[in-house]
Amino acid sequence: MRKIQLLTDILHDRHSLSEKEYELLIMEHDEEDAAYAASLADAVRRQHYGTDIYVRGLIEVGNICRNDCYYCGIRRSNKKADRYALTNEQILLCAEEGYRLGYRTFVMQGGEGSLPLERILQNVETIKHHFPDAAVTLSLGEYERDAYQAMFDAGADRYLLRHETADREHYQKLHPDGMSFEHRMRCLQDLKEIGFQTGCGFMVGSPYQTAHHLAKDLKFIEEFSPQMCGIGPFIPHKDTIFRDEPAGSVSLTIYLLSLIRLIKPNILLPATTALGTLDPLGREKGVLAGANVIMPNLSPYEVRPKYELYDHKISTGEESAQSRKNLEKRMEAIGFRVVTARGDYKESH
Ligand code: SAH
Repeated sequence: MRKIQLLTDILHDRHSLSEKEYELLIMEHDEEDAAYAASLADAVRRQHYGTDIYVRGLIEVGNICRNDCYYCGIRRSNKKADRYALTNEQILLCAEEGYRLGYRTFVMQGGEGSLPLERILQNVETIKHHFPDAAVTLSLGEYERDAYQAMFDAGADRYLLRHETADREHYQKLHPDGMSFEHRMRCLQDLKEIGFQTGCGFMVGSPYQTAHHLAKDLKFIEEFSPQMCGIGPFIPHKDTIFRDEPAGSVSLTIYLLSLIRLIKPNILLPATTALGTLDPLGREKGVLAGANVIMPNLSPYEVRPKYELYDHKISTGEESAQSRKNLEKRMEAIGFRVVTARGDYKESH
């Protein structure tokens, strides 16, 4: 058997490799090796989650941001971004519509500081009060531990905070001086300790990224053992300093999804919007390679074009939470089933 496939078998059995071995998997795999990893990942996901695909209604609560991440279209110094923040009423309307459409997880995502803490807490409480059988996920960036604790106490179930890169120097190349790798990692530790189902993640093909960095990302996922992990290709945004950088690779993203599934068999792993933006069949390819979550857009139509993290981000048509029937058909066509369920992390036994 081929070397890379033998190593993939070891990962499948032990859920752990050295950083050097992860780097080898990344550097030396070919298409056939990726297909092999996908077949193992698909089988592992079926053992834990069957053919169920969980959907999350994504509410983009605002694009006002205090941070200045070099890659992101809603960074503070992008003067061209048309800023907005949803009102509590608008957020509740989104959740109501989502609930009617069969969504049982609502993800409130936004730029940092779009909503003051008090309003974050109010919205979590309101949604949990109206829809006690739904989960609330937050993806609102970095806070101090007591703020995260308050969000948890208000009823939030999950928190997504991509680590972006597990290499400190690489982190510094993607973020301005005021932002620190240590703080982001501290946040992830706090979230987990508080009791959130916690998600980390990174962009594939972000500027300056090497196979060594990706190997460190995989090792970090192995050690941190998150309940969720969001990865998607980097896509340049025209009003950022990375405007001329190439986009990340769809096929590498899909291969990494398979490896992450093998590292954490029961992880909740989305086929992300960025993947769907670069490839119209990205969602399907991600699911076939081990992903089991899709996060359609529930934001009010009029703000969707404003939440532009990268160029040409899809937000209507297939990507829309309103197209649920269509999504169901597409998943059925590849042998999967979109379910109306909270879709919590399943502990392995
Ligand atoms: N502000 C919040 C969440 C919003 S950004 C936070 O800091 O967590 C959500 C994710 O979008 C980021 O974590 C990043 O990985 C991704 N993202 C941002 N800009 C991107 C780009 N140009 N291409 C692809 N993904 C991007």
